[in-house]
Amino acid sequence: MRILNPTFRGLALATLACLGLLAAACAPLLAQETSAPQPPGLPADAPAILVFSKTAGFRHSSIPAGIAAIRAIAAEHGLRVEATEDGAAFSDAGLAPFRAVVFLNTTGNVLAAGQQAAFERFIRAGGGFVGVHAASDTEYDWDWYGGLVGAYFANHPAIQDAALDVVDRDHPSTAGLPARWERRDEWYNFRSRPPASARVLITLDESTYAGGTMGAPHPISWAQAYDGGRSWYTGLGHTSASYDEPLFRAHLAGGILWAAGLTDGPTPSPTPSPSPTASPSPTASPSPTANPSPTASPSPVPLSHRLSLPLLGRR
Ligand SMILES: [Zn+2]
Repeated sequence: MRILNPTFRGLALATLACLGLLAAACAPLLAQETSAPQPPGLPADAPAILVFSKTAGFRHSSIPAGIAAIRAIAAEHGLRVEATEDGAAFSDAGLAPFRAVVFLNTTGNVLAAGQQAAFERFIRAGGGFVGVHAASDTEYDWDWYGGLVGAYFANHPAIQDAALDVVDRDHPSTAGLPARWERRDEWYNFRSRPPASARVLITLDESTYAGGTMGAPHPISWAQAYDGGRSWYTGLGHTSASYDEPLFRAHLAGGILWAAGLTDGPTPSPTPSPSPTASPSPTASPSPTANPSPTASPSPVPLSHRLSLPLLGRR
């Protein structure tokens, strides 16, 4: 057997050791390919959100733009953010650091059974869910998730301009939006409307574009209390250009902050859900009205300066 030249062998060992160190250093990061250094100056205990963009079906090319936009939103509001496409992040320990998880254009079956169970426990413990666009094109066979996201994707016409009606402007994700909002995107039809207990924030005016099949109302963004946590969904966000739009970013920021329990705002009507298969828990409504907050409207003040929220009792 050939013996390696000692110098070469030393180098090889050093390289291996170095790789080992690197692996150890990377282990805590959930997605080596998408994680980036946190903005400087964030306290270690700053609230954190997880962005999950695993795809098992169609993959949106706008995912990197979405992650970049969420990183910018997080930096602006003093949040830590990690991004991953690894379902293994969905364990009790893996989710524990986060106040909310953003399903950013996920598609198909992205979580194994044990991972799904961990995510259900996360929401029941007061965690937040943010679903962006294809989050509704995800996990069709997981009833609990169907209830969480509120409605499943059915189909869509070609990308085109349309007019949206911001029917509820008393929510952090809509407070800065015009009552009539015209923009370009891929407009989803859903298999059903969200349950009556969900708070519809924005509807699509089907008379302003071709291919809408839901009639009126055609909800496209909504919020709800769900099984102990908060859920916010927007059907917007197919195109990369969306993530550069100031209004869309404000919409997304408000949804993230609300779902994470970092700002209050309207909460879904406490009416019990007459809904489908999807409502697994009779305790789905942690009656928000019980937590009147003076910070109900989004404010330009960085949230890190007003994080006294008793909203969800989660960290
Ligand atoms: Zn799309």
